[in-house]
Amino acid sequence: MNKGLKLGSFEIFWLDGGVFELEGGCMFGVVPRVLWQKKFPCSADGYIKLTNSPILVRTPGADLIIDSGLGNKLTAKQKKIFRVTEEWDVEGSLARLGLTRIDIDHVILTHCDFDHSGGIVMENRSGEAELTWPNAVHHLQRAEWQDVVMPNRRAAGTYWPINLDLLGDHHLLNLLDGEAEPVPGVRLLPTGGHTRGHQAVRLSSEGDEALHLGDLLPNHAYFNPLWVTPYDNFPLDSIARKEELIAPAVEEGQWFLFYHDPYMLACKFDRDGNVVKSFG
Ligand SMILES: [Zn+2]
Repeated sequence: MNKGLKLGSFEIFWLDGGVFELEGGCMFGVVPRVLWQKKFPCSADGYIKLTNSPILVRTPGADLIIDSGLGNKLTAKQKKIFRVTEEWDVEGSLARLGLTRIDIDHVILTHCDFDHSGGIVMENRSGEAELTWPNAVHHLQRAEWQDVVMPNRRAAGTYWPINLDLLGDHHLLNLLDGEAEPVPGVRLLPTGGHTRGHQAVRLSSEGDEALHLGDLLPNHAYFNPLWVTPYDNFPLDSIARKEELIAPAVEEGQWFLFYHDPYMLACKFDRDGNVVKSFG
């Protein structure tokens, strides 16, 4: 956990954001199990294990976190439904790196599904809700926030007000209308696809590059652009953006970073999608 992935002058760490289990079919949709099972292990009753790892990027000028994990507000019933096997422990993860919650300067949300936004608001030791990173500017696409405030019928089940209420009208909320670079070398790229306002993150430092595609590439099994999750609201957009973004990054030997991969934190692919180098 204390070893980070070096990217030029950046160092990247994966925090403990909670682990849960979903039915494999819920993640792989139309892809037959005989195919996805070759790439991703599955339990006897058809469940797969998924981490929810906030990614800490330490840059020379700022510390930032991409997505926030499951948080500490799930009820016993929700933990049972989502088969939570490991708890969110972002404070402990940061402490092991000599950091606290107040040290984080920026938070980037790829999108606001509960498994990505659950740690934005936490329950403190007095049982009160507070922003987990009270000094961080929180960056997300305006289209995503519009769907948080007024969710469509499908999004209503996964954009939970309890995770995002405290950010509304807050001076720490920064809504974006397209590409942005909140920290030098940290570029936010709207993608749509998974959700209308979903965004990816490209990290560049001293000639090294890494691409974090959020839930368009939740783990290493999703290299094929046609493998999209059934949770994607606009799957044809997901496929188009994956085709556009993955191939050039592979050619350049870039790292791909994962939020939902219990088997590797980052990897490099060859053109056929074989993992040629992995980290963690
Ligand atoms: Zn997700």
